[in-house]
Amino acid sequence: MDNYIVSARKYRPTTFQSVVGQKSLTTTLKNAIQNNKLAHAYLFCGPRGVGKTTCARIFAKTINCFHLQADGEACDTCESCKAFNENRSYNIYELDAASNNSVDDIRTLVEQVRIPPQIGKYKVYIIDEVHMLSNAAFNAFLKTLEEPPHHAIFILATTEKHKIIPTILSRCQIYDFSRITINDIVDHLAYVAQTENVAAEKEALTLIAQKADGGMRDALSMFDQIVSFSSGNISYQAVIENLNILDYDYYFRLLNTILAGDVPQSLLILDEILRKGFDGQHIVGGLSNFLREVLICKDPQTVSLFATGDVVKEKYLTAAQQCSNPFLYQALEWCNECDLKYRESKNKRLLVEILLIRLCQLTHPVAPSDDKKKISLAPLTANTPTETASNTPATTPIATPKPLVAPREELHKVNEPPTVYTGADINIHTAETEEKKQETTPPQQDLNEPFSQSDLEQALRNYAETQDDEYLKNTLLTSKAILTAGNRIQIDVFNQGQEDKLKEKSAEITHFLNDKLRNTQITLHITQVELEHEILPVGNKEIYDYMAEKNPHIQTLFQEFQLEF
Ligand SMILES: [Zn+2]
Repeated sequence: MDNYIVSARKYRPTTFQSVVGQKSLTTTLKNAIQNNKLAHAYLFCGPRGVGKTTCARIFAKTINCFHLQADGEACDTCESCKAFNENRSYNIYELDAASNNSVDDIRTLVEQVRIPPQIGKYKVYIIDEVHMLSNAAFNAFLKTLEEPPHHAIFILATTEKHKIIPTILSRCQIYDFSRITINDIVDHLAYVAQTENVAAEKEALTLIAQKADGGMRDALSMFDQIVSFSSGNISYQAVIENLNILDYDYYFRLLNTILAGDVPQSLLILDEILRKGFDGQHIVGGLSNFLREVLICKDPQTVSLFATGDVVKEKYLTAAQQCSNPFLYQALEWCNECDLKYRESKNKRLLVEILLIRLCQLTHPVAPSDDKKKISLAPLTANTPTETASNTPATTPIATPKPLVAPREELHKVNEPPTVYTGADINIHTAETEEKKQETTPPQQDLNEPFSQSDLEQALRNYAETQDDEYLKNTLLTSKAILTAGNRIQIDVFNQGQEDKLKEKSAEITHFLNDKLRNTQITLHITQVELEHEILPVGNKEIYDYMAEKNPHIQTLFQEFQLEF
């Protein structure tokens, strides 16, 4: 291990040909060199570790080669190539702008630029992380970039193209590097493993590639880490332990409990994972990915998209046999919904638990008790018969084969057998209204379409507009309704009169919302709150505006970190 060289350096490509995963880009560069159409400034953009600096070096070497090959590659044997390969060429100058971003650093570079090369045709200046240069440094550099000497070529590299000022952008030829695909990384790692005489399971390399998120440098350093950890035997287990990755065995176990409708067991598995230190969103995201992969394995046409070893693929194929398409579509939709709600949720663990409970009930619907049957709800808006008719879910499953992505409505059709009654809360508040409904309305299907805060607000406005009762109307239009987890709608009112009014109408409102939002899981909770002098905003955008008005720094923070609502 004395002369151990990290793989990212040892296996750094030295020809365009050997650059992994950037084929079209390297071809363009080669063509430019062959046709002698060189620009004075290039901007290489893209994520970390995808080969920007490597390509810049190969480019520098190639344009200085004395015997350029017919295929546009450097010869690797001439004096200039040797100097490059041995890292002693004076024709390449690298500046890491992350640590050398002052005006003085740039001035030193500009001084250098004036001196022509001793041997070879070009001096190449690579400025890495160029977005880190200070404004003053940028300005000092601009002049040189505008009128560079003939022998100077600049290659600016950045992971954050949007931070480059337009005056620089307009002077550069821009090359966008893409993330390297999982398959390409796996192939390259397998090649390195073979050359280094390291045993490696394909599942293990796939995990590394997934974790590297398209960056070869990261993939190779994880590879090195695991080689030394596992004394030269890269197994799936070694990777899991070393990189703290959530083992897909957990997902297989979760899927089994979901398919068995075993709620307690699924919650226990969740607890086990959380105890290992994984956070809820990670689990939900992982479950989504897992379900997507199971879905991919259902179809022989898409199974090729699935990158992993054969043993695991077999497990996925078995799982795919056990899951129906509608189940997977619905499960994916709910996972996605949970993921979206996660950031805002106050009780994140509960949110994930609810997801698992719903998934368990998807396969093993809870049969309605007699009591609940009695108050099954029907669409309220009899004045929109066409809409109701077309949207009412059918109860018969749709015959296979189905398209990979079924239309939304269809998913619900096949997923909502009439016996499902997942709503624990029934939305009737008074015995009086309950009786009335029972007499006049036919049973309604169980619906559970996701809806947003603004859908809710819109629906409540719609309801208010249909009302003749001015007091009710005003109460609705001035009160705050907030959608919280589990389709719970919190309506805050300001006095007893409003509270009484809404409680009196709650069954009707709920019913209207059931129909309008196509969701029978809704529960209304009406609470009287103290009226503050200032009406506090509702909704993320409004809260942001409110805060930004009070403190303009919030706005800067929001923009700097590119936050989303
Ligand atoms: Zn050469």
